[in-house]
Amino acid sequence: MLSERISLMQSARTRLDRFISRHLGISRRDVRLILAQRRVKVDGRIATDIQEVVHEFSQVTVDERVLQAHKASYVMMHKPIGVVSATRDEQHKTVIDLLDRSDRSSLHIVGRLDLNSSGLLLLTNDGRWSKGLSLPEKKVSKLYRVALEKPLSNDYIQAFAAGMYFEYEGITTRPVKLDIISEYIAEVSLEEGRYHQIKRMFGRFNNKVISLHRLAVGALVLDHDLLPGQSRDLSAGEVANISVQHPSGETNL
Ligand code: URA
Repeated sequence: MLSERISLMQSARTRLDRFISRHLGISRRDVRLILAQRRVKVDGRIATDIQEVVHEFSQVTVDERVLQAHKASYVMMHKPIGVVSATRDEQHKTVIDLLDRSDRSSLHIVGRLDLNSSGLLLLTNDGRWSKGLSLPEKKVSKLYRVALEKPLSNDYIQAFAAGMYFEYEGITTRPVKLDIISEYIAEVSLEEGRYHQIKRMFGRFNNKVISLHRLAVGALVLDHDLLPGQSRDLSAGEVANISVQHPSGETNL
């Protein structure tokens, strides 16, 4: 899956002369000529540099003829319980099945949620954006509200902050912030997404997760009026600012 995405991103960035040469079936020498004649535009601006890098969402025209005009899509979904975070599944309905849009088959999921988890799920066709969100150095936090079978205690706060060793992966989890909201409800904020991470961390206390709902990813909070199964496009501002850290480290909920 990851290698699929990486190869998609690599093929999505290419030098302008190579791109035009391939699309029009002409030599690089001829491409240089039409660039010098100022007949090429990238995103509406005359392009003359053969080394300019174009990506999958650049609009490229030659003599006003469009060679490529892919639109980038960024979607917020309220994932319901019982729907799989996958593009295809033999058994269950997938989050893609919930979308009613012509580009749905081009979208991939940014950070899955388990079958029985709900809340904010992001989908996009922009591999650079999704990769950026998962880079450890970006420290994009994910905030969850968790309901538990047994009462919480202050010991959890320490243990989550200290990190837990996951034998299967051979890693220690990065510090996780846990706030006790009430006896059985916690809010948990983490910057990574190991397999079933939250359930496994509470599992160390023998405490079963009853429900798990993602409230926010970075600065982006799930709309209160978006019902389970509904989705909407993100604004340009939301796309650009999702990984911007609040100075206080808090999320606006
Ligand atoms: N951690 C889990 O255990 N499940 C999720 O869906 C998300 C985080």
